[in-house]
Amino acid sequence: MKFDLFVLPFTVGLVVMVALLVFKYLKWLKALSREEKEKIKQNVFSFCSLKALKEIFLECLLHRRIFKVNLFLGFMHTSLAFGWFLLIVMGNVESKFFSDVPLNPPYYPIFFRFFEPAPSAFTFSAGFTFFMDFFLLVVLSGVVLAFTKRFYSKMFGMKKTTVMKPGDKFALISLWFIFPLRLLAESFTSGVYGHGGFLTGTVGRFFASFLPVGSLIYPSWWAYSVSLGVFFVALPFSRYMHIPTEALLIFLRQYGLKNGKENGVFSDIEINSCPRCGICIDKCQLASAAHNYSVQSVYFLRSVREKSVEEKVTFDCLLCGRCKEYCPVKIDTISIRQNQRSGYLPDHAEAYNYLKPARAQKADMIYFAGCMTHLTPAIQHSMLKIFRAARENFWFMDEDGSVCCGRPLMMAGKAESAKRLMEHNIAAIKASGAKLLVTSCPICYRVFREEYHLDIKVMHHTQYLLKLINENRVQLSHQDLTVVYHDPCELGRGCGVYEEPRAVLQNIAALLKVKNERDHSLCCGGSLGNLQISTAQRTAVQKDVVARLSVDHPDIIVTACPSCKKTLNIASPVPVKDIAEIFVQSLEQPAVLKHHVFEKEPLQKVKKEEIVVSYSNK
Ligand code: SF4
Ligand code: SF4
Ligand code: SF4
Repeated sequence: MKFDLFVLPFTVGLVVMVALLVFKYLKWLKALSREEKEKIKQNVFSFCSLKALKEIFLECLLHRRIFKVNLFLGFMHTSLAFGWFLLIVMGNVESKFFSDVPLNPPYYPIFFRFFEPAPSAFTFSAGFTFFMDFFLLVVLSGVVLAFTKRFYSKMFGMKKTTVMKPGDKFALISLWFIFPLRLLAESFTSGVYGHGGFLTGTVGRFFASFLPVGSLIYPSWWAYSVSLGVFFVALPFSRYMHIPTEALLIFLRQYGLKNGKENGVFSDIEINSCPRCGICIDKCQLASAAHNYSVQSVYFLRSVREKSVEEKVTFDCLLCGRCKEYCPVKIDTISIRQNQRSGYLPDHAEAYNYLKPARAQKADMIYFAGCMTHLTPAIQHSMLKIFRAARENFWFMDEDGSVCCGRPLMMAGKAESAKRLMEHNIAAIKASGAKLLVTSCPICYRVFREEYHLDIKVMHHTQYLLKLINENRVQLSHQDLTVVYHDPCELGRGCGVYEEPRAVLQNIAALLKVKNERDHSLCCGGSLGNLQISTAQRTAVQKDVVARLSVDHPDIIVTACPSCKKTLNIASPVPVKDIAEIFVQSLEQPAVLKHHVFEKEPLQKVKKEEIVVSYSNK
């Protein structure tokens, strides 16, 4: 077996890294719940594993999602990850071809050119030399780009890059050193033995023309080995832990694991999968518009991992989900932050003991306006007009004396209190016998849909309005208006409702496209997810959003969230309306009204039967 002392730093580093990773992974796997372990068992020998491998190839090696952000950024990550991967694979294959022992020690393919420096007669030797040089060149181009990014981040589509801590800087520098040192070690060796491909051979001849390369060979292999060893030891303690952990995360996701109501093993794996790429920094409007550079997910996740998270960082976030949408690792930053919040605030569920038994009214459908809609009465007035126009037998559930849907409490991390409110509402909804629940607030829509587990259909009013159009229950007149549509975060990114509001608006007015829409829409700044933000910061976000929505001078900015409407109106010189208001306007046009006899009929009478349901205090 070929051996030299200089392989020790590499070998020791590798052993330490593998031991730490195995320890960490076994600890994680052991701490998974029984249900999570069962999911893994059921899926490990299924297509899920193949899907995971495909995703690992596309995202961990080719970095497909980062390419979508910026070509240079994508190439930088791919050349480093995929280039290094190919160097390792090709190096192992080459050394296997060359060697006749069944098993080579791990260092042998890495330092192959040291142990086999002279040109070889084996069949594919020249081909291997060419490809090994080519892959090394690819990785070196990635190192050059990574270095350039530190100084010219705009070239990579980034205004701000992650501010690194000393540990990360140390690991980064050791990583940067690995490949230039490999080039030097292989080139010096080529310079002496006359071997090497188009890269190492050329560089070797160049150095041999003015340097004593013979005496530099040995120190350069030592330096290369030390840089590898240092990087391996630093990896589990630095952001490079994401390299192995992201692959594990992809497998677990494919097996159906996800973040729960408390941060546990899965969230820990997500936190360790963050490479601190910094893509989430510019996408956060608290950074881009309000110049707050401490709350972004990259810093929040790092501080959770280091167990040094501050209350301000935890709460000073709009929970708008933009960072989650752009995150190439698809880390569920929102639920991790929300769960983290529960550790700070005492949860006094008994504060809701004052709630009276829920009262319900028999109806075919329920309208739940929500607290924010009550503060923007034009929306609920419009919805009531629409229900009457559509002859709905409806019950306005929170017309008076009702309670909140519970989601603001969830956003604040108060799960128990939220549960109390939800039980109260569920009792009333069930007692009404309704088959459909319509909400005007996206926040209410989301919580009724995801947390209440109702056996009736839940719709946001944008979906309900489209249903009325599709069922020909209303006739609308096309208005001579140009409008832009602002996707509310909770309705768009939160619930995936993008098409229905657009389809409704296309029946009413000329709908302009805006740059930041759908998944990439902006947060209005009024989010209930952040109650700490200063007025100045909120105003900065509002103004920024309005300016971006008004680029093409629309007549009206339309949205579908009472909170967005209120917030955008503060900063907008252009009128801001809810989609329900535009709908009513179109419904009430004289040209349309003359075909609608029902408007002149008495308003739909709803049954007055009221039922009192006892509210369980459990
Ligand atoms: S949270 Fe996502 S986008 Fe932000 S640094 Fe981590 S991986 Fe990158
Ligand atoms: S959720 Fe929104 S406000 Fe919070 S860190 Fe992400 S982008 Fe910024
Ligand atoms: S009010 Fe609307 S846009 Fe603003 S944060 Fe909430 S959901 Fe997002």
